[in-house]
Amino acid sequence: MTEYDVAVIGGGPGGYIAAIRAAQQGACVCLIESDKVGGTCLNRGCIPTKALYSTALLMHRIRQAGAHGIRVEDPRFDYGRAAARKDEVVKKLVGGIEQLLKGNGVEVFRGQGSIEGPGRVRIRRPEVTGHIRAKNIIVATGSRAARPESLAIDGKNVLTSREILAIKELPASLLVIGGGYIGCEFASIFAALGTRVTVVEQLPVLLNRSDRQAVKEVEKSFKDLEVTVHTDTSVESLEVGEGEVVARLSGDREVSAEKVLVAVGRIPHTAGLGLEDLDLKMEKGAIVVDEGMRTSIEGIYAIGDVTNIIQLAHVASYQAGIAVANALGGSAKADYRVVPSTIFTLPEISQVGLTEDEAKEQGLAFSVGRFSYQASSKAMCDGEPRGLVKMIAAEEDGRILGASFVGEEAATLVAEVTAAMQANMTAEALGRTIHAHPTLPEMVMEAAEDVAGLAVHKMGRRRKGE
Ligand SMILES: Cc1cc2nc3c(=O)[nH]c(=O)nc-3n(C[C@H](O)[C@H](O)[C@H](O)COP(=O)(O)OP(=O)(O)OC[C@H]3O[C@@H](n4cnc5c(N)ncnc54)[C@H](O)[C@@H]3O)c2cc1C
Repeated sequence: MTEYDVAVIGGGPGGYIAAIRAAQQGACVCLIESDKVGGTCLNRGCIPTKALYSTALLMHRIRQAGAHGIRVEDPRFDYGRAAARKDEVVKKLVGGIEQLLKGNGVEVFRGQGSIEGPGRVRIRRPEVTGHIRAKNIIVATGSRAARPESLAIDGKNVLTSREILAIKELPASLLVIGGGYIGCEFASIFAALGTRVTVVEQLPVLLNRSDRQAVKEVEKSFKDLEVTVHTDTSVESLEVGEGEVVARLSGDREVSAEKVLVAVGRIPHTAGLGLEDLDLKMEKGAIVVDEGMRTSIEGIYAIGDVTNIIQLAHVASYQAGIAVANALGGSAKADYRVVPSTIFTLPEISQVGLTEDEAKEQGLAFSVGRFSYQASSKAMCDGEPRGLVKMIAAEEDGRILGASFVGEEAATLVAEVTAAMQANMTAEALGRTIHAHPTLPEMVMEAAEDVAGLAVHKMGRRRKGE
């Protein structure tokens, strides 16, 4: 029997990257996947939502066409076509990953993987069960949508993110339960496409981990899109009737909608892995790992959503590199100080490093630079003058501690500050860097300059410390 150097269970952005990275280093690798390679991200998460987001953004731009003198009268929208386009994008990308795995010599087994013990993996398919041996096992089984019992998800009218991505017709109305990033992304997308959207969030604010000023911009856009938002509100019950679902809310209120999306969090996926029979350390349903992605059992690593450290695709991929390095004899450690993230609402929100509130909570001495999209010539040309760039730098040495963005292309803009932070740059050095004109990244330069009160295109200039 072949003994693999590395067996990876789960083929999402954690697992498939781990498999390819290990193969690139000459290891004998297999990947076990029970569904499609690409995982949640490619098949049911990042990619299908961003394909739909792109459609919503185009609709948003078409609505602005009049300001450019382009008359587009009453654009008609075919959701079925947009959904088919999304599926084509997913299919192409999944095919690409399959090719990459093959090209790198990774052996892919289709089936449900479970761990029989260190070095031993069982693969079950409906008709056959097999066993393999591996010196190292990397668990990358991801997460699944939380399904609270009180919100009876039926997959037809009451949906999770997985099922809503499979609908073929645009619902007239949608109730989104959960004002986190998944809920708010879907609310933006469907509202921009013409659905009447209501968001219910039990916390006092939407997107509670994001910069407050950034969230205010999204709230304004929700108003423009006529999205009704109920914060500090919980859904007490759902009743599915003929063509509509009636939700009873706290405070004796009621909302009805054609479809309901339940987006109340994601739970590490460990079912069927056989962990009950192993003495593997777990916490709140997640596999516990050290900085090197090692679990409590030697030779078994875990990466991605199943560890519940930061549930983002690029973090899973980063952790894959750490786990592989260690499985192949290295001593790599994960460092989460510089992790960018984006929420694809209209407008987008991005973040890297600390938010202003987090820096305050940590008692750090810091300065803030701000620059508004209104003062950006490129944002003006694009007709997208809403938004803000905010940069936070340490008082002591000027090192950039974090940045928040809200507005057009926030997802792209965050990359520059991510690289600057990774290189330990100061705000002053970033402000001195020549930026092409007229571009949105000039706002990054100006926000960096504003840390010392020296942004040029800003009224009410202030000196550092004022
Ligand atoms: C709607 C939505 C939108 C999102 N948007 C973004 C975004 O824009 N950006 C971003 O960074 N993140 C986004 N995410 C989060 C992102 O999808 C996850 O963080 C990422 O997929 C985690 O990767 P993973 O490899 O840990 O797990 P997954 O991608 O979940 O992959 C796990 C894989 O393991 C397989 N598997 C599970 N158990 C077994 C088993 N026993 N045997 C064999 N195979 C098994 C599953 O079939 C799956 O393919 C989004 C998530 C959702 C739901």
